Amino acid sequence: MTKQDWKTRADKVLMNTYARQPLVLVRGKGCRVWDAEGKEYLDFVAGLAVCNLGHGNFEVAKAASAQLYQLVHVSNLYYTTPMVELAEELVRLSFADRVFFCNSGAEAVEAAIKLCRRYSHEKYGPERHRIICMQNSFHGRTLGALSATGQEKFWQGFGPLLPGFVFVPFNDLPALKGALDEKVCAVLLEPIQGEGGVNPADPGYLKEVRQLCRERDVLLIFDEVQCGLGRTGRLFAHEHFGVTPDVMALAKALAGGLPMGALLATEAAAGALVPGSHASTFGGGPAIAMAALTSLKILTAPGFLEEVRKKGKYLQKKLEQLKQQFPVIQEVRGLGLMWGLELDREGTPVVDACRERGLLVNCTQGNIIRLLPPLVIDLATLDQGLTILAQALKATFP
Ligand SMILES: *Cc1c(COP(=O)(O)O)cnc(C)c1O
Repeated sequence: MTKQDWKTRADKVLMNTYARQPLVLVRGKGCRVWDAEGKEYLDFVAGLAVCNLGHGNFEVAKAASAQLYQLVHVSNLYYTTPMVELAEELVRLSFADRVFFCNSGAEAVEAAIKLCRRYSHEKYGPERHRIICMQNSFHGRTLGALSATGQEKFWQGFGPLLPGFVFVPFNDLPALKGALDEKVCAVLLEPIQGEGGVNPADPGYLKEVRQLCRERDVLLIFDEVQCGLGRTGRLFAHEHFGVTPDVMALAKALAGGLPMGALLATEAAAGALVPGSHASTFGGGPAIAMAALTSLKILTAPGFLEEVRKKGKYLQKKLEQLKQQFPVIQEVRGLGLMWGLELDREGTPVVDACRERGLLVNCTQGNIIRLLPPLVIDLATLDQGLTILAQALKATFP
């Protein structure tokens, strides 16, 4: 079976929703993955910020597999112990008092939308249901999360979308103030926009938003599906900005590579959901909860996040040097190990040139090279990746 054979088989039976790269991956370990032909790649995508602990983490695999033999699934009609322990841990580590488990980022955002609407509905009546969202944001592909996503290209052909979403430019306080009327129940934003091109919130912006929301009893939702869980060198990205939300969506890296989402909220906000108001058959199942507990234990081990911050500073310095060297790079943006290189042209040829040389990177928004290496990477491996990236840039833009 060659790579081409697999591609032919796949393209016959899979829905054509992804412009997949011509790569068939069969194995991963740490920061590396291998394709079906045995070629090795350095992985600076990490499953889109999912494999924060790298590939094949032994402790996560051991904990999850032991639980697979013990008890896989019973539904949320009953209590299970890993879920309780995981919720306690998330509460201990965050601003939140309560947790709802689901299976993806989009589902966590859906739950956030429902929670905020219901909170406001009960306190202020049904008129107050609007959610202010950011232009260029990304919250997922289910219809509610899609309706909250500020990028029209993702809406094409799926209308009518869910009503009640208002969009303002990110980091624009006057625009947000202008949109905050008596019909607004929540503000939803990513502290660092990921898919939208790695755009961090301006210093001070989140504090002002927090204040505006508090004054009006408007719930503040942070979507930390991508930037949360150590990606920026803090367990949650909002810790960099000195604010906490009322509600937060997590997913991606939460269960060390397995699918899990979570909605975290303060006691006051969480009170809006009562038995029967929201549910998930799989949410917080035992095996996935064991994977998440183990993953969280590693992320929060003494010194781990401090190392991520150090590596992030190092990467930033190197990327700024790269910008000096290659005038096609317009801007370097990011935090921790979440970085974007904005090019003045199409970025796909760079992605291809990196892949041919054994490095996986992602391109978002057409011209932003996004780097999301596993958090467990060491400086020598970071350097290897950067060397390949420089070679690819040189070959693409001679
Ligand atoms: C990936 C992502 C989502 C959607 O997560 P899925 O698990 O793909 O549904 C939502 N919000 C942000 C910020 C994301 O990066």
